[in-house]
Amino acid sequence: MADVSIQTKHFLSDKVEHFTESVIREMTRQAMLCGAVNLAQGFPDFPAPAEIKHAAREAIAHDVNQYAITWGAKNLRNAIARQMNVWQGISVDPETQVTVCCGSTETMISTLLAVCNKGDEVVIFEPFYENYGPDSILSGAKPVFVKLHPPATPEGEWIFDERELRAAFHRHTKAIILNTPNNPTGKVFTRAELELIRDLCVEFNVLAITDEIYEHIIYDGAQHVSIASLPGMEERTVTINGLSKTYSVTGWRVGWAVAPPAITNAIRKVHDFLTVGAPAPLQEAGAAALGLPASYYQSLATAYCARRDRLMPALAEAGFRCFRPRAAYYVMTDISAFGFADDIAFTKYLVKEIGVAAVPGSSFYNDPRDGARQVRFAFCKRADTLDAAAKKLLQLKPR
Ligand code: GLN
Repeated sequence: MADVSIQTKHFLSDKVEHFTESVIREMTRQAMLCGAVNLAQGFPDFPAPAEIKHAAREAIAHDVNQYAITWGAKNLRNAIARQMNVWQGISVDPETQVTVCCGSTETMISTLLAVCNKGDEVVIFEPFYENYGPDSILSGAKPVFVKLHPPATPEGEWIFDERELRAAFHRHTKAIILNTPNNPTGKVFTRAELELIRDLCVEFNVLAITDEIYEHIIYDGAQHVSIASLPGMEERTVTINGLSKTYSVTGWRVGWAVAPPAITNAIRKVHDFLTVGAPAPLQEAGAAALGLPASYYQSLATAYCARRDRLMPALAEAGFRCFRPRAAYYVMTDISAFGFADDIAFTKYLVKEIGVAAVPGSSFYNDPRDGARQVRFAFCKRADTLDAAAKKLLQLKPR
């Protein structure tokens, strides 16, 4: 009989050997198994806006039940183009520059598959949202990581070193993946930082692929700038966004890319053969969502800021050193005070013995050792959920 492991390997792609399943999503399963409070995966535990749920029900009642146009329902593409103009002053042709996909997750992989060749390199700031690594590998590209260095004080900013970034760019560089506002650090890239990235993109003829899913979840007067709005970037940027975070509908799976027409064409081809299209009735509801008044976005940010300010003191009291996020809905923390071997041992203990699920820092780094002292908490949760977690965390004993 043939060796089973050799036989099994024969059936598998080499690509899948180079990454594991998502740790973030695994932690949600662990939380369910242990009955723990889930501050791991970033999804809200409160309802979506009534207006948009109504719009989704109406769309189904009116039989919007068949495929939408593969690259996106016209109503939604028009709304996306309109809002890019209102929010970022970028003019977008909804007919040639917008592709709607199944969440920003599919949008990112479709984009990378559409632009990367074997041997291309993709620059990624780390810590990074864990999908970007496997996405690059699946598209045949090699990820090259550049550090965002943690702040020296809890109030400080995560920053990159200009020389380290420049050293990552060379003739094989095809793209840089940017995520601003950033998961997991809560960093908002400043205009000056984006200009520096722009200059490198122009010098090395590199595409910027920017994930802006946390665009509206922003605090302390920070300003979100889309790199596509900088002179010289319009023709070399793919801007990714979606409904999930802004409208608290992570399970709807509606996201999109805005890109120059030739790149859009390529993304549309990949998207068409991957998934055909995103859910048609939810795209109609998405068009309604993008029509919500400006006050909706202000209240969204204010409510998230209150959640941040509820969780952070609780984490500090329990013994975590917190890095204050300026945006998005995660807090990165330093766990040195607890004296565990690493982040994995700590998060296992936390979910099983304390009853709180969080994400080990190593899942945001290429080299797990770089994240071994960090753990991420999500605060996109109701006040009572955050309070329940806070109470449990007090059982932790800093050593
Ligand atoms: N962005 C969310 C997080 O970082 C999860 C997204 C997902 O699991 N698809 O937790």
